[in-house]
Amino acid sequence: MNRLVVLGSVNADHVLRVPHFPRPGETLTGHGYQVVPGGKGANQAVAAARLGAPVSFIARIGDDAIGRQMQAGFAADGIDVSAVERDEALPTGIAIIYVSDEGENSIGISAEANGALSPEMVKRHESMIADAHTLLLQLEVPLESVFEAARLARAHGTRVVLNPAPARPLSAELLALVDLITPNQTEAELLTGVPVTDEASAREAAARFHQLGIQEVMITLGAQGVYCSNPSQQVLIPGFRVTAVDTTAAGDTFNGALLAAQLAGHDFHGAVRFAHGAAALSVTRLGAQSSIPSEAEVEAFLL
Ligand code: ATP
Repeated sequence: MNRLVVLGSVNADHVLRVPHFPRPGETLTGHGYQVVPGGKGANQAVAAARLGAPVSFIARIGDDAIGRQMQAGFAADGIDVSAVERDEALPTGIAIIYVSDEGENSIGISAEANGALSPEMVKRHESMIADAHTLLLQLEVPLESVFEAARLARAHGTRVVLNPAPARPLSAELLALVDLITPNQTEAELLTGVPVTDEASAREAAARFHQLGIQEVMITLGAQGVYCSNPSQQVLIPGFRVTAVDTTAAGDTFNGALLAAQLAGHDFHGAVRFAHGAAALSVTRLGAQSSIPSEAEVEAFLL
């Protein structure tokens, strides 16, 4: 009953370091080419599992080598992959990422098999959603499927957590099905119209989310921490000070860690502290899933 179901994307991230971004018509020699596991759904499932939660993952990959390799990786992290389906026609989702020597990113993505995670596929896994304590969603799969999953979860009394990333406009109907929303500053602004820069603007954005029917709001503010607003408190909880090397998947680690800690019975502040610790460790390391720490590493960091 304390199981977390994550429904979301799987991407193979093709990363190439370049001296500068190629201009139209230019062919550039890069270095350090790597294919690494990514996708917000996969990152959050891996974070929650590595940090102690029992996790089932509902996702769609291609019938290809990289998809099989990533699925084996999820299983090695202890994730139940019985609802990771293989698409016969489409390849595994991809991201093509240039990283410039100044550390900036330029990214093109293609949903591929993620785009075929349909509402019908969600319905096939209704019992998994019904039996879980919490369902965690993001926005890298079709919105109608996100809606269907939230609808089924609500009907079965499963808590719905939405990390509304990447930023996309959402219907009031979908937002009304959400128990906890965890946007970053950009996503909070897109969904509420309030530019979020500090505690006061985060409070205003959170009030708009409450008006839309969402009980619990946690707006992540990068190095500033997280602004939390729920019926019992409104508080800005600062994160840990670390030297950031690569913030990729900081938000994904925060979400997975927060829910793992809540499902393990931590109180509100204890769970946020654990999530801040996990996310802070992840920004000191390169990559997406490769940067997500283990439970023991977070506990040692928090001592
Ligand atoms: P990303 O898209 O880079 O994965 P995000 O924009 O979804 O991240 P952020 O709001 O940047 O999410 O950060 C999420 C959490 O990660 C923060 O609440 C904090 O715990 C941690 N974090 C992010 N950046 C830093 C940093 N520079 N130093 C310490 N902790 C950080």
